[in-house]
Amino acid sequence: MTGYVTRFAPSPTGPLHLGHALSALTAWDRARAAGGTFLLRIEDIDTARCRTEWEAAIADDLRWLGLAWPEPVLRQSDRMPAYRAALARLADLGVLYPCRCTRGDIRAALSAPQEGAPAPLYPGTCRGRAMADAGPGDAIRLDLSRALALTGPLAFDEAGPLRPGRHDAALALADGDPVLARRDIGTSYALAVVVDDAAQGVTEVVRGADLFAATAVQTILQALLGLPRPTYWHHDLIRDDAGRRLAKRDDARALALYRAAGATPDDIRRMVGLQPAGAGRISTSAPSRTAV
Ligand code: GLU
Repeated sequence: MTGYVTRFAPSPTGPLHLGHALSALTAWDRARAAGGTFLLRIEDIDTARCRTEWEAAIADDLRWLGLAWPEPVLRQSDRMPAYRAALARLADLGVLYPCRCTRGDIRAALSAPQEGAPAPLYPGTCRGRAMADAGPGDAIRLDLSRALALTGPLAFDEAGPLRPGRHDAALALADGDPVLARRDIGTSYALAVVVDDAAQGVTEVVRGADLFAATAVQTILQALLGLPRPTYWHHDLIRDDAGRRLAKRDDARALALYRAAGATPDDIRRMVGLQPAGAGRISTSAPSRTAV
């Protein structure tokens, strides 16, 4: 066993898809190659959308793929006091502000009303508000410029093949000030992930390339909270025959459906462009990235 620790961190809001399989298998293969540890973490802060049935189905799919992990797994819904403490620490640093804007307000401020469009870039409407004014209807945002002024220049290390090297965390600015505590749940994906990656001693995070900007935000939070920074491995996204990115919630790509149709775990590995499980020990043909 070496010091390498990675994790797969699904949200139990639906079935596992091919994109999840690529993340989980890549993390598993890298942990095995390093003689390290693979962890499963259940990211269930959004209790209105998460279901224990999905949690069980996810564990079942992962075991079928050949993965194993130490029990009990960490469940984020048990960790709210740790997230609150981290938020309080950030508030003490003066880098947070309460925000009462709805998506509609933000669109109106940008005069770009578009039904169903992705979340618009936050224009900073509430940036002047003080935390002392925060009320129950407010979300809490991180003032990125103030945060970066405090931390100084920051970079994270990318170990994956897509964009290897060092990346400036200031790339987070392009997406606007992120919400660190949603008004409904009092925390957020970014804050919970940073607190838990540190608590679990994660040394490398494997995730999809769609989370590259999220990684930059997390790097800033790690610096503000004095937490160690893992390295990152962003993998390519699974695409359909036409080269379009598969939607995360595309149930047609659920592993359960491939299983029911008779696919083997190695079939899934091939579909997501990975070597069969025995590769390296037995002779196999070169892997091909198959469109699905
Ligand atoms: N719960 C997140 C997801 O399912 C985890 C992503 C990550 O931090 O690796 O997308």
